[in-house]
Amino acid sequence: MTTMNSPALMPYDDVIAQFDPVMGLEVHVELNTKTKMFCGCATEFGAAPNTQVCPVCLGLPGALPALNRKGVEGAIRIGLALNCEIAQWCRFARKNYFYPDMPKNFQTSQYDEPIAFNGWLDVPVETDEGVQVFRVEIERAHMEEDTGKTSHLGGATGRIQGADYSVVDYNRAGIPLIEIVTKPIVGAGKNAPAVARAYVSMLRDLLRALDVSDVRMDQGSLRCDANVSLRASADSPFGTRTETKNVNSLRSIEKAIRYEMQRQAAVLAGGGQVTQETRHWHEDTNLTTSGRSKEEAEDYRYFPEPDLVPIAPSREWVEQLRATLPEPPAARRARLQEQWGVNDTEMDSIINAGAVDLVVATIAAGADHTAARKWWLGELARTANDQGVDLADLAITPADIVDVERLIAAGTINDKLAREVIAGILAGEGTAEQVVARRGLQIVGDDSALLAAIEQAIAEQPDVAEKIRGGKVAAAGAVVGAVMKATRGQADAAKVRALLLAHLGVEDA
Ligand code: ADP
Ligand code: MG
Ligand code: ZN
Repeated sequence: MTTMNSPALMPYDDVIAQFDPVMGLEVHVELNTKTKMFCGCATEFGAAPNTQVCPVCLGLPGALPALNRKGVEGAIRIGLALNCEIAQWCRFARKNYFYPDMPKNFQTSQYDEPIAFNGWLDVPVETDEGVQVFRVEIERAHMEEDTGKTSHLGGATGRIQGADYSVVDYNRAGIPLIEIVTKPIVGAGKNAPAVARAYVSMLRDLLRALDVSDVRMDQGSLRCDANVSLRASADSPFGTRTETKNVNSLRSIEKAIRYEMQRQAAVLAGGGQVTQETRHWHEDTNLTTSGRSKEEAEDYRYFPEPDLVPIAPSREWVEQLRATLPEPPAARRARLQEQWGVNDTEMDSIINAGAVDLVVATIAAGADHTAARKWWLGELARTANDQGVDLADLAITPADIVDVERLIAAGTINDKLAREVIAGILAGEGTAEQVVARRGLQIVGDDSALLAAIEQAIAEQPDVAEKIRGGKVAAAGAVVGAVMKATRGQADAAKVRALLLAHLGVEDA
């Protein structure tokens, strides 16, 4: 049962004074393979329900799976990028349970023989004491398949309670999924929520660089469950953990962990015990509520999958895949800093804004690096911040920025109009060209339209016009300003000035 009354929270500073947090992060990443893990069905996001299914992923009797080599390749590359060992030999396992979104009645997963294990990721974390590198140890990365998606319809909340009926879409069933599980993360102290966020953020960048996934938290191709527990001090045994699901943005990871720390601390300080359970994060109310209790922990009756042969990746193959890994983050940073000619502080702000990949992609799409940085770190960073979303999740692409820059270069729009074009793109009004056309944003370049506006401005400021005629060219600014205002900024100021002076018969100074 879900209870919505908010429990007591201990102030965060008190939590840190009295307890030591331990975390464990489980990240599920959907691979961007063209076909599913065990059949040839397409994996495209957003297709009409149940159009990307076949007997294998629908679990029809007698259907046999066939392993997707690209899925295994993605898993190995992820394992290598996380500094893991790659299994010499491993198997899939059946995780048996019933749920309507899982038509086979078992999930093909890996159990005690993961493809990758024992790795680590060094994560730069912003703290009050500056950026500190924190090593997150990786327990394992294993292969499994995604489930279908159930929607509860007819009710007010979209939850099963109160719904009239439920429908299931199996398009997602069987899409390759890699689950990446950390070892218990200790020693983060007050920075625990920031460490968790920085880890997922860096993992997402790494996965994007590997080009193995769309890593869209909003679309569910990257999902994170956060385990948290508190103990009295760094040498006490671990406390009881809760596992918070449904954390769908980087911000939420940080907030959900902080919230759980404060909630558990209040329970413990009040003499209570933390219940080992699954909790759900609510993006709207910023709190977690109790879900399934782990005391009735399911017995999944794991056993080796009999319909798939074991995987024994040859060391040659593993080394070939290692050679395809992207440049390590520190080396990349140094290289980009040199190419862009920015100092340490500027580079930090680009990294902290989550803009590095976007700037790189914008340059690759044809913009120069100053323009690329200007838009992502200025206008767009502000918008992302206002909306409380990540830069990468804004509804604008590097190619859009290049389009905007081309329109500026062609003289179709100026810098000020470009901001409006970007606002239009973000609002879903189409490409840069479409926004310009729909909102009528092109610079007024037509001389007769400009001249009419100039004559109007002169008529309103006859004394200024007299001064200009008398040789005070510096006074032209006031008339130019009036024309710019009349054309709502859609004129080229230099052109207006030239036309004005010519009209008044004055030579430019
Ligand atoms: P489950 O199947 O219950 O989700 P997993 O082993 O898949 O368990 O994941 C548990 C996660 O929680 C791992 O990242 C693990 O390191 C972490 N963890 C284990 N014990 C604790 C604890 N007491 N407090 C916080 N995290 C923990
Ligand atoms: Mg788990
Ligand atoms: Zn299929």
